[in-house]
This record gives sequence, C-alpha cells and structure tokens, in this order.
Amino acid sequence: MEEIDLLIIGGGVIGLACACETASPKRTVCLLERHQRLGTVTSTHNSGVIHSGIYYPTGSLKAKLCLEGREALYGFCAQHHVPHQQTGKLILAEAGKDSSGLQALLDRGLANGVENLEIIAGSVVTKLEPNVAARSALWSPSTGIVDTEALVRTLQHKAENQGVIILPAMPLIGGNAHQDWVELHTPVEAIRARTVINAAGLEADNISAILGGLRFHIYPCRGEYAELDCKGPEQISRPVYPEPIAVAGHLGVHLTPTTWGTIMIGPTSHYQEAKDDYESERIPVEEFLEPTRNLLPSVQLENLRLGSSGIRAKLSADPTVFSDFLIERDPKQQLMIHAAGIDSPGLTACIAIARRVAKLVDDVLN
Ligand SMILES: Cc1cc2nc3c(=O)[nH]c(=O)nc-3n(C[C@H](O)[C@H](O)[C@H](O)COP(=O)(O)OP(=O)(O)OC[C@H]3O[C@@H](n4cnc5c(N)ncnc54)[C@H](O)[C@@H]3O)c2cc1C
Repeated sequence: MEEIDLLIIGGGVIGLACACETASPKRTVCLLERHQRLGTVTSTHNSGVIHSGIYYPTGSLKAKLCLEGREALYGFCAQHHVPHQQTGKLILAEAGKDSSGLQALLDRGLANGVENLEIIAGSVVTKLEPNVAARSALWSPSTGIVDTEALVRTLQHKAENQGVIILPAMPLIGGNAHQDWVELHTPVEAIRARTVINAAGLEADNISAILGGLRFHIYPCRGEYAELDCKGPEQISRPVYPEPIAVAGHLGVHLTPTTWGTIMIGPTSHYQEAKDDYESERIPVEEFLEPTRNLLPSVQLENLRLGSSGIRAKLSADPTVFSDFLIERDPKQQLMIHAAGIDSPGLTACIAIARRVAKLVDDVLN
C-alpha cells in the first residue's frame, strides 16, 4: 500500500490551491480527481468574477476570505500571467426605489473592509458605461474578472512543479479512518495517508460520510446563463449587477464580460436534486430578456443565446439563509480537513481558503 503524508480529494480550484499551499519537499502530497481533466466541474462553470467582498455578513469566513483571497488572486494572476482584469463593477439602483438598498450594501462593504466603495450618480454611470442607464449605482473598483480555465491550468502546473502527484480519472470510492492514518480506496489501489483534505465540491458530503466524518448535506443549486452577442451597441466593459434580490437569496441576474470578449447573463438560481444535471428543463432564452433590459435597455431578443450552467454546492436548503464556508478539522475524524460548502465567492477566495487549510494540515502533520 502507498504511504503518503497528505491526500487531497478534488481537483477544482480549492483542491489545487490547497495542493500549492501545502506542498513541501519534506512531504508526499497526492491529489485525486475523478474526472480526466481538472477543474471541469464548478471551477469553470461560474461567472469568473473576482468579488470585492461586499455581500457577506461581516465577520463571516466568506467576508474575510473573499478580501484576503481577492488580493492573493490578483497577485497570483499577475505573477503567473493568468488572463484577468480589475474592471470594477456597478450595482445599479432599482428603478422607482429609494437608494436605501445601495446604502445598506455600501455600509456592509465598508464594515467588511472593502476599499474605495462609493455611490455614484447616473451621469457618472453613463460615463463609465455609455449603454447603461441608472439613477445611481454603487461603484466597486476592486472587483475584476478572471479566465477560470487558465487559472485551473496554472494552479495545476504550479502544484506539479512543487512535487504534488496529481492522479486524474481516479475517484475515491471508499476508505476508513484509523487513529494515525486514513486508508483510502480508488478503483486501482489503496493509499494510506497521514491526513486528508476534503475538497470534493458537490460531493464533499459523501466523501465525509465515506470516511466516517461529520454529517452534513450539500444541496445542489443550478445557475443558468444566457450570452449576449456583443457585436452591437450593447457593449459593456465591466460587470453590471442589479440590487441583490434579498427574498430570493441571490445576487440577481447580472452581466459579466469575460476575458475572452463575450458577455455572460446570469446566473439564475434553482435548487435541484441531481448534482450533475446541467441541462434538463433549461430556462428559455426569452426569460433572460427582461432582467437584461433592466440593466442594458437596448438589448433585443435576437442579441441573446443560451449559455452554459453551473451548480453551486450549498450548505443550506433555504436560499434566504446564509451559510458560511465549512473549513475545519473534522470533529469525529481529526485527520480529515474539510473545505466544503464552497459556493460563491469560492473562486475569489481559493488561495485564502487554501492558506487556512494549510495551517490545519500543519497542525496535524507537525
Ligand atoms: C453559477 C455559479 C457562479 C459562480 N460565480 C462565482 C464568481 O463569479 N466568483 C466566485 O468567486 N465564485 C463563483 N462561484 C463559486 C465558485 O465557482 C466555487 O466556489 C468554486 O469553483 C469551488 O471550487 P471547488 O474546487 O470546491 O469545486 P469543484 O470545482 O466542483 O471541484 C471539486 C472536484 O472534486 C472532484 N470530486 C468529487 N468527488 C470526487 C471523488 N469521489 N474522487 C475524486 N474527486 C472527486 C470533482 O470531480 C471536482 O472536480 C460560482 C459558482 C456557480 C455554480
């Protein structure tokens, strides 16, 4: 049986960032990914926004790690030439409502430590985005966008260069935890690891159960996108959001330019049973028209086409109930460390999450 120091389950941005942060010449670190290619699940089916950290309850891990992670991610992308852009972002005041919603967001953002936020007048909005009309908006200059495929590739190369053994197409299918090691089974071999990171995204609850750890449930929540044909006058050069829909518990369908020149519209939010169903009962493209026009009034139906979809790994079944990231040593199986319930802003926060996980790994191994 192979004996290693650390096994990471899951090759999305969280598992890969953990691989980079925990690798050391003194350790054997191995990462299992059940798919042939890394990062093909949630890590590349998202909006690719580097969030500033406005939305999350002050003091939560999401708030803290979003801010830390955002700066770390900008630094990482610049250092490793991952396409990204600090575009800033506009959150538009809802037509016909007072500005208390924007003011509350501004107050929350400031309490979270987000820099340089300000409420700007409609005339300033139009200078930034000539095709967008709004009475006023919250301007968040530290928001940006990143090419998620390139980010995954770069994290993978970095981890491999640091000596991490990456095993694609290798699912964890069983295992059991002992006092000083965890035995892990794949279809081809058994591995004995001194510690384990559970970074299995939508499957993190099942991985914990397999290894006799904490019982929790991951609720899959699909987000669908349309795309805007951006050859016409509907250009935007930074993310444009509506005020968040508090009753629906999500940020509202928004517009996000990608680093490769398209504009994503979405995501929607809908809980479902399946963790791998991206396509059944897709929302018709027509339903994206009104929310898009609320932000970019000149858009016509013929400018829209259906886009991709992604599935959030939620720890709460109720969209209005906030659930934080679950990053901790398992209370029952102390050799297992969870990075679970990593929905948005997990992409932004991936390096900060990994640094936190790496400290927990040190506690076990040192
Ligand atoms: C629609 C949508 C929009 C989003 N937008 C943003 C955004 O703009 N900004 C932002 O910061 N965040 C955003 N997020 C959140 C972000 O995408 C996630 O937080 C992040 O991708 C989580 O990464 P992960 O590595 O935990 O998950 P994943 O990428 O899903 O990786 C988990 C991996 O574990 C593997 N795995 C599972 N079971 C096993 C097993 N038994 N054995 C081996 N491997 C296994 C899977 O195959 C998978 O590759 C969005 C998410 C969604 C769904």
